[in-house]
Amino acid sequence: MATESCDVCERSVRIAGGIGDLWNFAFESTQGMTLELTDDSEFFLCFDCMERLPDDHEPTADDVAALRERTDPVEEDGNDFWHWK
Ligand SMILES: [Zn+2]
Repeated sequence: MATESCDVCERSVRIAGGIGDLWNFAFESTQGMTLELTDDSEFFLCFDCMERLPDDHEPTADDVAALRERTDPVEEDGNDFWHWK
């Protein structure tokens, strides 16, 4: 397993370590994935943000940028107890 930060909300999300992991682990062990868009751009998104992309058409880099515009980076201030800095 590894972590990667979401390109929209900047939260660190857990991802499967490779294609083998993807098939061996249940989907709930993975919290995001790399989206390859039809315009050849690539973004890593957590599932929460992915669900917020428009679903009436194939998402584009513009859709991801627009989603990022209206998404505040996740603030983890309230959860300092759980995070060692
Ligand atoms: Zn996200």
